[in-house]
Amino acid sequence: MFSLNKILLYLLFFTVISSVYSCQDVKVEEDPMPKNIILLIGDGMSYPQISATEYAHGELNMTKMPVHGIITTYASDRKVTDSASSATALAAGHKTNNGMLGVLPDGTPVQSIAHYASELGKSTGLLASSRITHATPAGFAIHHESRNDYYIIAEKYVNSGIDLLLGAGWNDFLPESEGGTRSDDRNLISEMETQGYLYIDDENNLGQLSGHDKAIVFLEGQDLNPFPERGDQMGRLTVAALDQLSQNAEGFFLMIEGSQIDWAGHANEAEWMKQEMLDFDAVLGHVLEFAEKDGNTLVVVTADHETGGLTLPSGIDDESDGVRYEYSTGGHTALHVPVFGFGPSSERFEGSYDNTDVAKKLFSIWGRNLED
Ligand SMILES: [Zn+2]
Repeated sequence: MFSLNKILLYLLFFTVISSVYSCQDVKVEEDPMPKNIILLIGDGMSYPQISATEYAHGELNMTKMPVHGIITTYASDRKVTDSASSATALAAGHKTNNGMLGVLPDGTPVQSIAHYASELGKSTGLLASSRITHATPAGFAIHHESRNDYYIIAEKYVNSGIDLLLGAGWNDFLPESEGGTRSDDRNLISEMETQGYLYIDDENNLGQLSGHDKAIVFLEGQDLNPFPERGDQMGRLTVAALDQLSQNAEGFFLMIEGSQIDWAGHANEAEWMKQEMLDFDAVLGHVLEFAEKDGNTLVVVTADHETGGLTLPSGIDDESDGVRYEYSTGGHTALHVPVFGFGPSSERFEGSYDNTDVAKKLFSIWGRNLED
């Protein structure tokens, strides 16, 4: 026979258990919102570049990521996009004409996910193996109608509000008298230093970045050297950036570009392209290691377009196991490009969609729905 006490005890037990389960149910149903987003862009990287690199060097970190999607890349004025139009699409979720950065075809500025992150109190960083004024990083930072105006783009960086600018490009920021190539007398680095930016121009001083919310790290005047000449600069910059950005309790947005995959494509140099792919994938390795430990970071890897029209037809046996590298152009192509995802909300990047949807998904994950 159960005593009244025992019955009450059982009732209490079942109430506690069922409330624990209902809490868990709620947790599972909620779409967890990642605190941090890291977007990696392989400039000029599509399936041919991935196939070529994996056949020669084995499986890449990117293809091992759990979420796979595919996107269209066309610009508003052309089927074949350039990096400016594509950066605008990936950063702000709007199509624009080739050559235009962070603006609609009529010149109207559009907000990038980096600026939205700042609005949310998060820290922001841009890291590229090209100069920071190049189209892809610039598309996340500034609004301008021509990607070719490097000196004006550099001026617009001064008040862009991006916390960490990493990679290369002091030429566009310094006058000739101070080692740059600006023909005016403006020293944009000093202007940014007065705003509180730390400036580092030597790889050996990367440790100084720690504890500085705002910093410019330029290791070369123009672009970083091609890989493997530049060594592990991209990896070291990535680790330093993650150490610093993760100090912000509100989270961060970081964009990392493997810029020179594209340049190897323009040059139709498959060996160089594979080296750049390996470096980009090694950087991704550092990012995934951080994201796995952190547990609250969404990692998305994609590309702006394919470069070179690379195909891998059967070739003579002594050449790369019978695979040849044939290029059909020195320019870009209209091929779809892949998306790979890892971390909370990454499942939203499954399937087939447009490059503007990448930004729309990122904005929506952080609570804002973009108008079409
Ligand atoms: Zn290109």
